Amino acid sequence: MGEGGTKERESRRRRPANVARAGRTFLPAMVRNRARSGSDATVAPVTGPERRLALREHLAGAIDLFLPRVCVSCQRLLSRVETGIVCSLCWSRLPLLPSPQCERCGHPVPGGSCQWCDLLPPYVRAVRSVCWMPVDPASGIVHALKYEGWIAVGNEIAERMSRLSWPKDVVDERTALIPIPLASARKRQRGYNQSALIARGLARRWRIPVWEEIVLRSRETSSQTKLTPEQRLDNVAGSFRIDDRESEKLHGAHLVIVDDVVTTAATLNTCARALFESGARIISYVTFGRAHASGDRL
Ligand SMILES: [Zn+2]
Ligand SMILES: [Zn+2]
Repeated sequence: MGEGGTKERESRRRRPANVARAGRTFLPAMVRNRARSGSDATVAPVTGPERRLALREHLAGAIDLFLPRVCVSCQRLLSRVETGIVCSLCWSRLPLLPSPQCERCGHPVPGGSCQWCDLLPPYVRAVRSVCWMPVDPASGIVHALKYEGWIAVGNEIAERMSRLSWPKDVVDERTALIPIPLASARKRQRGYNQSALIARGLARRWRIPVWEEIVLRSRETSSQTKLTPEQRLDNVAGSFRIDDRESEKLHGAHLVIVDDVVTTAATLNTCARALFESGARIISYVTFGRAHASGDRL
């Protein structure tokens, strides 16, 4: 990417961050003043990430009234018929995983045999992903969700993920969705878990529940982007545990773990192992993006 492209990318990232900051300082003050003014409206204390999310959504709605709406991925002006915050051109340009795909892991298998399945433990039934990562516009869409505070993108991503096709037994059996949890420090910093936002969007469409509190992230793992597959496994090993108070409902369940992107499946596999060892019977994975594997023909 040239220098101009980099500058443009930086400037569009700055704007939503400023919007989010404005939401945190201005709106809570406004609500507190209203609560003190003797109004009969019941105003809950402005605390907690859920409250901040609600405020941020309200603020986004208010800003829409005054500013032209632009796509959060490519900055193109959105037309009136585009109701989301990612434009139809970006969605149409997603680098979709091509067919034919492996029936189990969903990885493209132009040569017939699948090597991606080797990454998976035997109790993983199926994996599906929408598009390649990191390739624009998919990367821009995920970046807007994860790092720029555009939480509504989670539901738009879920819409595309909900249309993936699965083996019939997975559709018949899937019991609940499990979002990959963030470590609590990172969740506090970000204010939300992007995988949970996607899982909620999927749950509405698939009509199954999200079990959001069942897997706990017991320690912070460092960023995985520069690690080899072996280092990734070491990095996440033992980082998930199951909340004992919730584990009874896992027995015999077919669970679908949700994450934004899969690279070597180290994180998903570690989470799956914790669930399996606590009684889950079968596990499937669903992600929006998938990284190329070393054996892929590009
Ligand atoms: Zn766009
Ligand atoms: Zn496979």
